[in-house]
Amino acid sequence: MKTLCYSIHDYDRPFIEESNNGKHDMRFTKSALSIETADQASGFEAVSIFSGDDASREVLIELSRHGVKYIALRSVGYNHVDLDTALALGMKVANVPEYSPYAIAEHAVAMLLTLNRKLLESQRLIDNQDFRLDHLIGFDLHGKTVGIVGTGKIGIAFSRIMKGFGCRIIGYDICESVEAKDIGLEYVTMNKLLSESDIISLHCPLSEATRYLIGEDQFKRIKKGAYLINTARGSVINTHSMIKYIKDGTLGGVCLDVYEYEKGLFFNDWRNMKIEDDLFLELRSFKNVLITGHQAFLTTEALRGIADTTLMNLTSWSQDSYSMNDLSSDL
Ligand code: NAD
Repeated sequence: MKTLCYSIHDYDRPFIEESNNGKHDMRFTKSALSIETADQASGFEAVSIFSGDDASREVLIELSRHGVKYIALRSVGYNHVDLDTALALGMKVANVPEYSPYAIAEHAVAMLLTLNRKLLESQRLIDNQDFRLDHLIGFDLHGKTVGIVGTGKIGIAFSRIMKGFGCRIIGYDICESVEAKDIGLEYVTMNKLLSESDIISLHCPLSEATRYLIGEDQFKRIKKGAYLINTARGSVINTHSMIKYIKDGTLGGVCLDVYEYEKGLFFNDWRNMKIEDDLFLELRSFKNVLITGHQAFLTTEALRGIADTTLMNLTSWSQDSYSMNDLSSDL
């Protein structure tokens, strides 16, 4: 199947080429999919896109006009795709429903430990031959209450790790996981989770129901000094409100792998350009905010998993035009 992969980087192309092994006619572009770049797909049956690409209604109409019939997402999340429009246009869309939930869960833990134990600050001091320990005090994770919002594959993987640290695990979800019982995860209301957790970690998808799931009302209930970790999607948090509650000390620490306005910023080289996003600049100015640029998925195991499933979706479509990972609009 002739496929154009948008938003390809040097880190993921080798995995896709290896999984493809010459089977499909794969072409690559570093450009993100947008209304300006949709015409690059002219003559391609399929496109493959990542989470920062724009698959909104107008872009899909343009892709369809150019003959694209299949969209292979290289992500779990599909909040960036207008599924209703895709299906109305007769396009098939498939995601990668699972690829190493450990990659994302472990990154969330890495961020938590890095911020709590002041590792970046410590490294800077060591670089200056300053071996004093002032200002480097952290806290034990052992015995703390961890609140998981979204107890799916990543939420459960994160819970297991935190259980290993000796934490009490509580969770909130719209449907309960059978695995939660083995971990001793106790389901509670969102309000209880907010008021009792020392650490809150977000692992739900972005949807109309979860947009600003953590906003002004929720921040008001958060336990003073709690840490908030977001490796899900930026818009699950109202960033403006969050900044207010960082400033007043409600939030003791914030770890963000995703950011509400990351589109166009993350995954790109901004070294020689001025970032005009004041919200992002303000977030970066806080010592107790740690940001990574949507890299939680970046392990060899996850990249291999993404590539294998993407190629499997394309192969299924080329054989019988159906893939087990096809998304329907009622999801
Ligand atoms: P999953 O489908 O296994 O789990 C999601 C869980 O969220 C489910 O249990 C679901 O019931 C729950 N949920 C849905 N709506 C909810 C709501 N309104 N309130 C509370 N819980 C709700 O998905 P997963 O594989 O664990 O991935 C979770 C999310 O992580 C993805 O949707 C994606 O946005 C994000 N993600 C981020 C990265 C990254 O690199 N930062 C990588 C992969 C996935």
